[in-house]
Amino acid sequence: MELLDKFGRKITYLRLAITDRCNLRCQYCMPAQGIDIVDRTELLSYKEMFRITRVLSELGVNKVRLTGGEPFVRKDFINFLESLSFNDKLEEINITTNGALISNHIDKLESYKINAINLSLDSLQKEKFEKITRRDVFDSVYDTFEKLEKSNLKLKLNVVVQSGVNTDEIIDFIELTKNKDIAVRFIEEMPFNGKGQRAISEVWNFKKILNHIKNQYADIDPILSKKSSTSVNYRIPNYQGTFGIIPAFTRTICSDCDRIRITSTGLFKNCLFDGGVFNVRDFIRNGASDDELKKLFIDTVHHKPENGFIAEAARGNAVSESMSTIGG
Ligand code: SAM
Ligand code: SF4
Repeated sequence: MELLDKFGRKITYLRLAITDRCNLRCQYCMPAQGIDIVDRTELLSYKEMFRITRVLSELGVNKVRLTGGEPFVRKDFINFLESLSFNDKLEEINITTNGALISNHIDKLESYKINAINLSLDSLQKEKFEKITRRDVFDSVYDTFEKLEKSNLKLKLNVVVQSGVNTDEIIDFIELTKNKDIAVRFIEEMPFNGKGQRAISEVWNFKKILNHIKNQYADIDPILSKKSSTSVNYRIPNYQGTFGIIPAFTRTICSDCDRIRITSTGLFKNCLFDGGVFNVRDFIRNGASDDELKKLFIDTVHHKPENGFIAEAARGNAVSESMSTIGG
C-alpha cells in the first residue's frame, strides 16, 4: 500500500505543524495583533501526531518536517521529537524554526534522529531583523545560528525575499556560504500573512532573484538536486556552502511534488494552496481504526491537484491565511 496520486506522484514527505502559536510576528506571516489562535483542545495532541505519522510511515512516508507556528513554543516538543525518532520507518526528521528558543536544545537535537534544521533568518542586520519579526530576538537567533553551524546537524537558512526590505542583503547571504557549509535558500514571498497580497513596488520572483545574483558573480554552478527538491540550487565556485531559490509562489516545481501537509488542528492539505481536504483529528476522535485512516489517506492523495494554481482556483477564494496556521 502506498500513497500515489493520479499523476503518478508518490507521496513520501509529511509537513506537520506542531502548533499555530508563535513567539514572533514576522510581517510576511502574521499581523502585528489580532491573530486568532485556536483553543488548545483543537490542536492535535502529541499522541495523535505520533499515530498519524506512524500510519503515514506505513504507507511510505519516510520524511517528516516539523513546523508551525513555532514548534519550540509548544510544551514538551523535545520529548515528542525523542518519541518520533524511535520510528524506524522515518529516514529523515527535519525541523523549521525561528531559532529564538533553541540554543539550549542543540545537544539533544544532535542525539535524536534529527537530520536538518531550517533556520529562518531574513536579515543579518539586528535592527532590520527586529522590524521584520516585530520582536527583539536577533541576538538569540544569531547565537542559535552560530551553534547550529558548529553542530553535526545540517543547516539551511530560510530567507524570505521581501521587496524593499532585505533584497540588498541577498549577496551578503551568499557570502556566508564562502566559508560555511550551509545552504542558504531564498524563498519567494507569498500572500500567506493573514491579510493577503502586500503592496510592493517590485516583484522579487525566482527569475529576478537569480538575475540579481548572476549580475554579481562571474560564475554560478548549478547543482543537481533530488527531483522533489523545493529549491533550485547553485554554488559559487570554491565556496563551501550552497544557495538555492524556492519558487514558492511561481510554482514551477509542482510536477515533482512528493508532499502533503497536516495543520496543527489536523486539517489535511494535499497542496499548500488548497483550502484543506478533511480533518484527520475529527476522524481520529470519532474512533477511526488504522485501516480506516489508511484508506482515507490513500483516497485523498489520489485526488491531489496537479499544481498549486489548480488547487488555488478550486478553493474559490484567494489565499490569505497566515502561514503559521498552515505550517510552512
Ligand atoms: N516559525 C518557524 C519559522 O519561522 O521558521 C516555522 C514556521 S514558518 C511558517 C515556516 C517557513 O515559512 C519560514 O521559513 C517562514 O519564513 C516561511 N514563511 C512564512 N510566511 C511566508 C510567506 N508569506 N511567504 C513565504 N514564506 C513564508
Ligand atoms: Fe512565527 Fe515563523 Fe511565522 Fe515568523 S514565519 S511569525 S517565526 S511562524
